[in-house]
Amino acid sequence: MKFISIIGSTGSIGTQTLELVRANEDLAVTALAAGSNVTLLEQQIREFHPRIAVLYDRQSADELRLRVSDLDVKVFSGPEGLVEAAVEPSCSLVVTAVVGMIGIRPTIAAIQAKKDIALANKETLVTAGHLIMPMAEQYGVSILPVDSEHSAIFQCLQGEDAKEVDSLIITASGGPFRKKTQKELTAVTLEDALKHPNWSMGKKITIDSATLVNKGLEVIEARWLFGVDFEQIKVVVQPQSIIHSMVQFKDGGVKAQLGTPDMKLPIQYALFYPERRFLPGERLDFAALGSISFEEPPTDVLKGLSFAYDAGRTGGSMPTVLNAANEKAVALFLQEEISFLEIYQLIEDAMNAHHVIENPSLEEVLETEQWVYEFIESR
Ligand code: NDP
Ligand code: MG
Repeated sequence: MKFISIIGSTGSIGTQTLELVRANEDLAVTALAAGSNVTLLEQQIREFHPRIAVLYDRQSADELRLRVSDLDVKVFSGPEGLVEAAVEPSCSLVVTAVVGMIGIRPTIAAIQAKKDIALANKETLVTAGHLIMPMAEQYGVSILPVDSEHSAIFQCLQGEDAKEVDSLIITASGGPFRKKTQKELTAVTLEDALKHPNWSMGKKITIDSATLVNKGLEVIEARWLFGVDFEQIKVVVQPQSIIHSMVQFKDGGVKAQLGTPDMKLPIQYALFYPERRFLPGERLDFAALGSISFEEPPTDVLKGLSFAYDAGRTGGSMPTVLNAANEKAVALFLQEEISFLEIYQLIEDAMNAHHVIENPSLEEVLETEQWVYEFIESR
């Protein structure tokens, strides 16, 4: 039996992870954590019987505690609650499926408690990869990628020697706006931005896909996961989202991982690695597909990628500024307080105003996040 904890169990990745728990008898859940969704977390507790349940929001946690008082489950709240879920003694793997930098502390706590990590929460690696990766090595834990591109690269690297890798080629769908001009983008709405052509995901990452910030965060995520330089990471648009990413080797050979756009495969690969299990669902029909095409990413108009290469190459606290400014800007866009293009403006202003801290500690990363929030709020 393999016991897992899920931080962010009520979201897109969290609920798909639970579908896999439902389908595999040798998987069980020991802790479930979410933000404030009392109703769904209660249902999940009744179905999966975790020992620990957490709602970050304290009032919601109080309500949950009353609702599940007939069950043998401990209910926690707040940031310390997320850490409780991450270090639950019987679990051996923590799925970090929470959205945003709130994932950093529970991820670090899980590593220090020697739990392997199935990492979906890319914001954690983007901002604190320089702390997380050495720590994982020190504690002998595996960071298994859940993000489909990184899972694809991880699959392509199996049996290969890292020294023979020339470059990583991350594919991008291009999102709903890949063909739009700057002028057309001034008029796009929240509803337009939430319509991803291929993937069904949480709202924040769906907006990040439309701005190409998601692809930018993935470039920085790849830098940490695979220990390569930014010069070795390329991005190509593959509009059908069939090729999930590729690795080019020194001899010019390229390996790619293909599949339908379904997150269950990369999640399951991380849960059972190195084993591959049966997964029901649609298979690729190449003849029906006809063709797979490629394009240059539209970096001039959708600036997310260029911001990320800039922030990544600058290093230090700059990726945190990019990420935190983006989190704040996307929240404002989701509340319809700013326009689509203002997301870029807020990120650019914050990056320009920031004085970089080299090799920031965890406290400095979190202080930088706070600085960004205050910078944006004071505008
Ligand atoms: P969702 O918005 O669907 O879900 C977010 C989850 O985080 C929910 O369970 C939510 O709980 C929980 N949450 C939010 N705030 C807090 C908090 N303060 N404390 C505890 N839990 C909290 O996001 P996704 O599943 O789409 O994305 C999760 C992560 O995975 C992101 O980092 C994303 O970039 C990454 N990812 C997602 C992919 C996808 O296909 N969705 C693909 C690749 C990566 P509640 O419901 O109570 O608010
Ligand atoms: Mg991805």
